[in-house]
Amino acid sequence: MIFNCHTHIGDAFVSLPKGKWSVEELFTPPHGLKHRMLSKASEQIIIDGMKKAIDIMEKCGTSVFIDFREGGVDGVKMLIEAVKGRKIFPIILARPKELEYDEREVDELLSTADGIGISSIYDWNEEDVKMLAEHTHEKRKIFALHASEIRREDIEKIIELKPKFIVHLCRANEDDIKRIADKGIGVVICPRANSFFNLKPPVEYLLEYKVKVMLGTDNAMIVKPDIIEEMNFLIKNFNVPEEKAIDMIEKNPTNFFEEILKKMLHS
Ligand SMILES: [Zn+2]
Repeated sequence: MIFNCHTHIGDAFVSLPKGKWSVEELFTPPHGLKHRMLSKASEQIIIDGMKKAIDIMEKCGTSVFIDFREGGVDGVKMLIEAVKGRKIFPIILARPKELEYDEREVDELLSTADGIGISSIYDWNEEDVKMLAEHTHEKRKIFALHASEIRREDIEKIIELKPKFIVHLCRANEDDIKRIADKGIGVVICPRANSFFNLKPPVEYLLEYKVKVMLGTDNAMIVKPDIIEEMNFLIKNFNVPEEKAIDMIEKNPTNFFEEILKKMLHS
């Protein structure tokens, strides 16, 4: 079973204007280009983009994808609509519409989504993000987030939130990675999306400390959600043995998400 462990297929409809872009200009909520485009676009345009991304994922043999779903409750509904009738299975990690904790909204999100997946903790105020994580754990759902993508972030603050997995870690240092390994937190890396911004995931340390590493393609507006291409990129550019790279899209996520897969197979 092949996994794509990190996507944002909601932005597949955006065609990126040529030029150099920083992560903040494109993706930091609420003013990054992606978020401006999402707030202007019709639901149908977003859903059509998602369907195209799903075509690409199915074509390369993906069985499960884990999507960080923007747009609150409506964003979750759009993904459910886009994936209707397909074989591929989405693990949906939603997020509140605004960068604020609202108990009722989170209850509603978690009634359909598999958990919460947010941008950086630094986009949030500390109390709100703590409440959001606690609420997710109370409901026994997955809490995940991006971390240390363009600057090193406080790993202890992140660990306190008890994430199941973290995405990126390009700027994490060796000690941060040791801590993550000790805590059994998973790490999803997206080397092609990182290279678009001249960033690199810390593959050597992740393997050295035996972190549970998985692979994702990140934002569909900059990288096609083809996990086989992602794996080949990793093998070619990071000196990762083929066998280990295959584990990152098959064995590692199958073990790591065992519980949710069991539920999926029984539903
Ligand atoms: Zn992402």
